Amino acid sequence: MKYAVPPAAMPTVEVAGTEERFPVHRIYCVGRNYADHVREMGSDPKRDPPIFFAKPADAVVANGAPVPYPPQTNNLHHEIELVVALGRGGRDIGADRALDHVFGYAVGNDLTRRDLQHAAKNGGAPWDAAKGFDRSAPVTAIRRAAEVGHPTSGAIWLEVNGESRQRADLTEMIWSVPEILAVLSSYFELQAGDLIFTGTPAGVGPIVRGDSLVGGIDGLDTLRTTIV
Ligand code: MN
Repeated sequence: MKYAVPPAAMPTVEVAGTEERFPVHRIYCVGRNYADHVREMGSDPKRDPPIFFAKPADAVVANGAPVPYPPQTNNLHHEIELVVALGRGGRDIGADRALDHVFGYAVGNDLTRRDLQHAAKNGGAPWDAAKGFDRSAPVTAIRRAAEVGHPTSGAIWLEVNGESRQRADLTEMIWSVPEILAVLSSYFELQAGDLIFTGTPAGVGPIVRGDSLVGGIDGLDTLRTTIV
């Protein structure tokens, strides 16, 4: 194979406890998956079901790596989320078999240019600029499901400069991981290497240059990010 221009490097994420890297194929995200967060964003969880959007694969940022404050925003927000890493793909995956497709889990931050998202919502415009910008997806090392199982309960939390901003429990997710994979795979053919950000609980808010973010989920790694 001879490329016309130098091909971009494959984005990867660390796999905890091994030398192996997880090759990122796509990043899917679920919006509106915790009722308290749906309400804080001005929607009704009974009326407005979870939705999907995407980020580019090379938006991933390693745990501990600094994130430059992005351009074209005055309202950057944090969103702490459980991330599912797929070890096997498929279409129309049944919820009853969906967990067989999971390689492991990580903690991620769905960084959001909230002002651009509000403008997009008001204008009926796409969310790409609000959600899919460069370095918008800090994520911890992936823990294998063989090691940590399939988390369905436990604390999910985020602190900014030592102050609690988000704290909830995975049991508050509207769609469970198997339900997400079933619905998502009815829209897209999933592949090994896909990451799925499963939505954030209430408490999202602004972050600025110099802020230190620490977040986690019981049983997974602690995500540390500094905004520079
Ligand atoms: Mn999110």
